[in-house]
Amino acid sequence: TLTNDSDALAGLDAAQLQAVEHGDGPLVIAAGAGTGKTRVLTSRVARLLQAGVAPERILLLTFTRRAAASMISRAAALCDDPQAAQRIAGGTFHAVAHRIIAEHAQHLGLADVTVLDPDDVIDLLDLLRSEFQLDGTDKRLPTTRTIADIGSRAINTGIPARKVIDEQFPWALEHADDILALLRHYSTRKRERGLLDLDDLLIAWRALVRDPDVGARLRARWDWVLVDEYQDVNSLQVDIVRGLAPDGRGLTVVGDDAQAIYGFRGASAGHLLDLASAFPDTTLVRLERNFRSTQPILDLANEVRPGELGLRLRADRPDAGIRPSLVVCRNADDEARTVADRILEAHVDGLPLREQAVLMRTGSHSAQLEVELKVRNIPFHKFGGIGYLETAHVRDLLAGFRVVLNPSDEVSWYRLLTRHRAIGKASARGLAAILADGGIERASDAVAAAPAKARTGLASTLSQLGAVDATTTVPELVETCRAAIEPLLRAHYPDWQRRVTDVDGIAEAAARQSDLRTFVSEQAIDPVDVSGDWAKKPHLDEDWVTLSTIHSAKGLEFSAVHVIRATDGAMPSDMALSSPAGLIEEQRLFYVGLTRARDTLDVYAPARLPTHPTSFLAKHVIAKPSRFLTAEARALMDAVDTATGEVRDGEPVAVPVPAAARVRMDEFDDLFA
Ligand code: ATP
Ligand code: MG
Repeated sequence: TLTNDSDALAGLDAAQLQAVEHGDGPLVIAAGAGTGKTRVLTSRVARLLQAGVAPERILLLTFTRRAAASMISRAAALCDDPQAAQRIAGGTFHAVAHRIIAEHAQHLGLADVTVLDPDDVIDLLDLLRSEFQLDGTDKRLPTTRTIADIGSRAINTGIPARKVIDEQFPWALEHADDILALLRHYSTRKRERGLLDLDDLLIAWRALVRDPDVGARLRARWDWVLVDEYQDVNSLQVDIVRGLAPDGRGLTVVGDDAQAIYGFRGASAGHLLDLASAFPDTTLVRLERNFRSTQPILDLANEVRPGELGLRLRADRPDAGIRPSLVVCRNADDEARTVADRILEAHVDGLPLREQAVLMRTGSHSAQLEVELKVRNIPFHKFGGIGYLETAHVRDLLAGFRVVLNPSDEVSWYRLLTRHRAIGKASARGLAAILADGGIERASDAVAAAPAKARTGLASTLSQLGAVDATTTVPELVETCRAAIEPLLRAHYPDWQRRVTDVDGIAEAAARQSDLRTFVSEQAIDPVDVSGDWAKKPHLDEDWVTLSTIHSAKGLEFSAVHVIRATDGAMPSDMALSSPAGLIEEQRLFYVGLTRARDTLDVYAPARLPTHPTSFLAKHVIAKPSRFLTAEARALMDAVDTATGEVRDGEPVAVPVPAAARVRMDEFDDLFA
């Protein structure tokens, strides 16, 4: 494999070699899934290092932190001085933006850089909604999440928010003035408090690139800019890339338009070719052989991929003709049992768990499976789709760190204050403003302004947090915050015991950091763990099954892939059904899921699903296999019927529902007819 190879060029085919050996003219690699784009990018980095390029002169932008780390370590393994490769600037756009912004905080007029994660954004908007009384009972504004979404779409596409509302949220049009007012307050407040949300990170980076002095220095800093998954960049990211390499010198971008899945964040298809045509001397490389999957898997992927155009993926590997399965299950529990059975079977046959992945449209789709895996003691690790509730307590501790590091972080003060039993939302707002304005020095004012019942508790929290000063070490600071937060968790959460264990786990990780600020910001930008099980996070040498949203599985591959919940309403998601563009994006997402598989691919379609993903009281409705599994697509799959275990070719047959189940569920059918 590549990792064990001392030569960056070994095993590459002619088209790949051409791309790796390319000089410094603009290079665009537009090619399908599994054709080796990422591998070429990694080899190119290794090749540059071998050719004597200083690692500091290379900037490598990827979609996740994991991806950057793995590419850099692979490149390192390919060159003489593995240590040197670690000095490459690499990471997600947001993570690199954060580093650049921290270096240039003064240029941006920021005393400090505190990053708001998407949940903080909601908290801050809620705070402002009440503060400016935009919540009048006579009119119902859209949810805060929708308003945040409107603002973010405007920023990422450059379309005025009013037009975004008009075109994409017409039902909210009568509230447009209030929405815009709220978004304006939000911008102002962020600026006053030195808070940046994820969009602001890109805006600030672009502003730095556009500044004559700073921009010139940033351009001089990197000779080589390489970007993976370029199909999913938005217009801000395009501007940043173009700003860093205005003539395309040293620029390499790779991507696949058929895998564009971030339209909702303002990415729009066509960036790859736009970039290619922006520079007259662009070299456009197309890779045609798929080195990842077997032909039967690619046949299905080709069938599912939207659009007539584009090359069909062609497998380079020989295979035993094993076709993908369409597993029709009775319901979500049956799906969970069947997936667990199949994972165990493969494991018994010698396939490690880490070579197996369960992919889904939305994080909540694995609720039943997670229970099943726990019951059977099959270790798993979940990526993507963080639920607010799962991580609420984790974020409480981070809020503690954040107010200590940046006392003007109003959102985090608000969060901590509302964790006090006797402090209501309205008083929390007022107190958060006092503390954000004056910091811990105004602790006594805040305590005096608090409701009488809350004073003792608040005084104790604030005096604990106030003990931190310039001489406090990171472990001391972490311990101080942990100790201050723990009583709040006990009072706030009925299941505080489990949560305290989690919090101890992150506290331990945080205490090992030399730079706590960066650690805290990174949690907002790209949280490492998503199941909330920080303390129980598997060690690298252990074996576990990957559970992931398809979004978070981008660029990855596994020997065995299980795509669950391939039903209409789940995939495509109900929410996407209203627009043709949304539907095509869902189709590309499904395509991305299928193309993660190397050797076996199982697609699951439960015939009945609960109306609520996790509630035991949920009603059950009939579900149909995804519309993307057309008759042509199904003809390429083996249909497995979990009721009989029988394997047939082609069209699946309806599964007979056992009588007992029918009694329980049929009464609801009419409600959904
Ligand atoms: P995606 O679009 O899904 O990100 P990709 O184009 O980036 O896919 P890679 O992940 O780079 O594809 O490669 C897919 C698999 O094929 C990897 O396991 C990689 O090591 C392997 N591969 C790439 N090129 C070759 C080659 N020339 N010979 C053998 N295997 C290869
Ligand atoms: Mg890739």
